[in-house]
Amino acid sequence: MKSQRMLQSWISGGLLPALGLSMLGLLLSSAGEAQVPAAHKTENVIVVMMDGMRWEEVFHGADADLIKTLGPEALGAPKERAAYAQQQYWRETPAERRQVLMPFLWSAFATHGQIFGNRDLGSDSQVINGLNFSYPGYSETLTGFADPRVHSNDNIPNPNATVFEWLNAKPAFNGKVAAFGAWEVFNGIFNRERCGFLVNASYEPLTAIAPTPELALINALKTETVRIWPDEAFDPMPFHTAVEYLKVKKPRLLFVGLGETDDWAHAGSYAEYLNAAHLGDSYLRQLWDLVQSMPAYRGKTTLIVLPDHGRGLGPKWTGHGQNIPESKETWMAFLGPDTPALGERKQAGPVTESQIAATIAALLGENYHAAVPQSGAPITDVLAK
Ligand SMILES: [Zn+2]
Repeated sequence: MKSQRMLQSWISGGLLPALGLSMLGLLLSSAGEAQVPAAHKTENVIVVMMDGMRWEEVFHGADADLIKTLGPEALGAPKERAAYAQQQYWRETPAERRQVLMPFLWSAFATHGQIFGNRDLGSDSQVINGLNFSYPGYSETLTGFADPRVHSNDNIPNPNATVFEWLNAKPAFNGKVAAFGAWEVFNGIFNRERCGFLVNASYEPLTAIAPTPELALINALKTETVRIWPDEAFDPMPFHTAVEYLKVKKPRLLFVGLGETDDWAHAGSYAEYLNAAHLGDSYLRQLWDLVQSMPAYRGKTTLIVLPDHGRGLGPKWTGHGQNIPESKETWMAFLGPDTPALGERKQAGPVTESQIAATIAALLGENYHAAVPQSGAPITDVLAK
């Protein structure tokens, strides 16, 4: 209820009255020269990536065969986990199933934003790096191009600058960029040593700002909670760290990298994979409600959500990579004051993850595609007309 009310107040803020005739003329005259709109309401962008979240579940909800599978014995209570998933996420129709799995995506984004990637409706979204695993996927998305030198998941410094680093070098964004992620390797992907902005990943306590009571608790939990994956914290850690940072520092460009969808898929637990997707969706809602409650963000913030790669089909759903061609297939969603409310896209031209970097910049009124010509062009469908 709360989010619905905020959504309405944000919409009623009104875009059209602000566009005077002179501005329209300016837009028309410059339309051909740059794919960056002169008039835009977006002043802040938040990018949330859900590692290895398949488009199949995003658009169809829980899979009829996979939801019957039991996860690993080692995780404990596989039957109970599967029964819980069945009860929480199984419904008769795909439309109902996706709604219960990702209710915020299928209310706010589907009504007021855009969602690409439903192949059933002729909308395609993919990575172009050919490797279909994480580091190359994040790097493609954040730098705007695939680089053959980026071919492993090793935690090594990215040879290329991300659009985050590019924007942080501009006075208007300097010190107003930050990245948080569950996976330790985000330190390499963003090139923490070089990039000049805060990167906080995995279990590392956040000490760059004075601790709020919440942050002190999060930092304690990062140190004290049992770990399953040595290089990746559970998603609540990076998410709540990012939220505390956002409240205090109000970054204009924020990255939040969630990882549990991929981890539980690799572990073979479909039930926990669905739980992670559902939690991720609730994080989108929390972020959106939070920013609409803050004057620095309300009505001028765009939220972008996407994965870094897809996954295999049927029994191969747990994996992804070069040998699983369909794992190049992704999805992407946009919600903000400049994005026309076209909802779930139908018969839309294919979009690629390599277009995200320039799209982020364009939403903020900057032309990354001109500065870095090998980057994908911005997705004009989600920009102000
Ligand atoms: Zn993976």
